[in-house]
Amino acid sequence: MRYIFKGQNLLELAEYFKSNQNCLDYSAEIKWANGYICKKCGYSNSQTRKNQSRTCSKCSHTESTTANTLFHKVKFGVRKAFFICFEMSTSTKSLSANYISVRYGVIEKTARLFMHKVRESMKSSMNSPMNGIVHVDEFVVGGKEEGKVRRMYAMRIENYSHKQLKTIFKSIFLTLLQ
Ligand SMILES: [Zn+2]
Repeated sequence: MRYIFKGQNLLELAEYFKSNQNCLDYSAEIKWANGYICKKCGYSNSQTRKNQSRTCSKCSHTESTTANTLFHKVKFGVRKAFFICFEMSTSTKSLSANYISVRYGVIEKTARLFMHKVRESMKSSMNSPMNGIVHVDEFVVGGKEEGKVRRMYAMRIENYSHKQLKTIFKSIFLTLLQ
């Protein structure tokens, strides 16, 4: 893994994720950690594009690294989305859409919609937190608080039967209390 991030230092996070490209590289590493398989035909060879999309060598189906994830077509870019997830999972209080919109220069309504998705994904992860995890990554936020460690795991969900999980990043960001 190229990017290993632990802690809740915003400056360090900014160092790891300097650009949208860094974030896409990171997403691709998690998404295809166990190798690429075409969603359409099951073939396992692909060409990698600069934006980390994979194009199947057999049927030419192209899948972006953010497809079926929280970050798919996010209006303000995947880097801001990473930072918002980070902030939401490290904060001990519930953040308002207005706060996020001011801090990240995002339209409030857009912020609210995205934050809703993040909360939903956290909730469904909490319902079955260990279901189908084959990979717990180190894009993790550890804030120590009264002996508890809050962590944001990059998780890989194998079971897509749950409707909500469909929209969530294969490597989902969630908060676990330990
Ligand atoms: Zn294919």
